[in-house]
Amino acid sequence: MTPEVGRGTRISLAKKYASPDDVRIRSSGYEKCLQCGRCTASCPAAYAFGDYAPRDIMRRLSLGEIGELARSEDIWKCGQCYSCHARCPRNNSAGLAILALREYALKHGIAPESIKRLASLIKNNLYDKGEILLPSTFAQNGRDKVGPRTYARYLENLDKRVKLGYCRDDARKVPIPEESMAEIRAIIDLTYAGE
Ligand code: SF4
Ligand code: SF4
Repeated sequence: MTPEVGRGTRISLAKKYASPDDVRIRSSGYEKCLQCGRCTASCPAAYAFGDYAPRDIMRRLSLGEIGELARSEDIWKCGQCYSCHARCPRNNSAGLAILALREYALKHGIAPESIKRLASLIKNNLYDKGEILLPSTFAQNGRDKVGPRTYARYLENLDKRVKLGYCRDDARKVPIPEESMAEIRAIIDLTYAGE
């Protein structure tokens, strides 16, 4: 029998998330890291952000700095491409540990404010429409942020969408079936770590 779920019913993806027992942190392989740096050499985030290095993430995990890492902005620089995993001679994966650290940061409200806002926006869009980015998302950035001219163009474009047969605030022409939406909402209720 399928368990009933609803808002407020949540599970963690790991029994002891963001601890040395978390399956994602354990499986990242930090304990067998050689500090060779091949992960950093192949990491696009390290290329884009000069102060970011997956090798450092592994070193800090081995020093037990899980809480400090979760508070760090570094974990939000990773693009989850897993080049680090592909290149590691020990089959390690900094990106995997980062998933657990991000969940921990959101769950404990210690993620940067911009990340919390983005996570909340994505969650609400998924919950309401089953999509991450919606035309209405743009408006939530506010007229002040984008400027009056851009905001006016945004409103015009919303009207054009309706004339073309699309929903005004939905990226689709045909809405996602309610049955599928129920599944999407159940997954969010069970797994989402932030507020
Ligand atoms: S490539 Fe692997 S062994 Fe080398 S530093 Fe990165 S995680 Fe450690
Ligand atoms: S998964 Fe993250 S840490 Fe690993 S290579 Fe990609 S961006 Fe870098």
